[in-house]
Amino acid sequence: FLAGKTAVVTGSTSGIGLGVARALAGVGANVVINGLGDADQIETIRAGIAADFGIRCIYSPANMLQPQDIRDMIALAASEFGGCDVLVNNAGIQFVAPVDEFPDDKFAAIMAINLAAPFHAIKAAVPHMKAAGWGRIINVASAHALVASPFKSTYVATKHGIAGLTKSVALEVAAQGITVNAICPGYVWTPLVESQIPDTMAARGLTREQVINDVLLAAQPTKKFVQIDEVAAFAGFLCSDGAASITGAILPIEGGWTAH
Ligand code: NAD
Repeated sequence: FLAGKTAVVTGSTSGIGLGVARALAGVGANVVINGLGDADQIETIRAGIAADFGIRCIYSPANMLQPQDIRDMIALAASEFGGCDVLVNNAGIQFVAPVDEFPDDKFAAIMAINLAAPFHAIKAAVPHMKAAGWGRIINVASAHALVASPFKSTYVATKHGIAGLTKSVALEVAAQGITVNAICPGYVWTPLVESQIPDTMAARGLTREQVINDVLLAAQPTKKFVQIDEVAAFAGFLCSDGAASITGAILPIEGGWTAH
């Protein structure tokens, strides 16, 4: 149902973003992938998506720390594929530390990648969506857009912030066929989660097994990690006609975490 449409997915060389990019390609979109990583590995990912789904897939090397790179990424989608119909703001980073020890440079980078980058991408993409009279913006927020955890002050601030950005832009563009929603995953087993385990062990004085079972999975009544494919399917649904009336919504997909 996205045949002939263009999707831009930030941070799609890994984890959730890669799953979302593949899901949107699977329903026919041409896809712009983006993210950091080894050039050969990225080319393998890009070529794989194009071959697996018979769509066109290109790579944007935009660094989400750089607003001009972000504008260039949207312009690339428009010049290669004729527009930007779906924007998935997914790139994100995490850092775990007590607030009084939180490094200033980590604060700045998390704010830039998790919150400022979605703003710049939305700003650049919305004119294309208005021109088409149709658009889908999906911000990959987090359960931490709805609740907090200790030692994640900056991440939680950016995820609450993106919820506000989502709602505000949704109101602005609601009459123009454009929906804007935030998906709020609980813990999904990706490199982002795996890499925060050592710092969480240090911050809380726990073993690896205790972090997984007593911190991560303790939050989720299902006692399971959310699957990348589940988040990807949810994003796909939000792009469908059946989701046309869902907008400005902050949507949990977290195994019951925020029902506590
Ligand atoms: P990940 O580390 O697997 O992937 C992150 C992606 O962002 C990678 O492609 C990486 O290259 C890219 N990226 C990082 N910095 C970048 C930069 N400066 N410029 C361009 N790309 C950059 O992480 P993930 O777990 O798949 O997370 C994706 C999103 O989902 C993030 O916004 C994260 O906050 C959110 N999220 C993840 C979980 C989880 O449990 N994994 C839960 C809730 C929300």
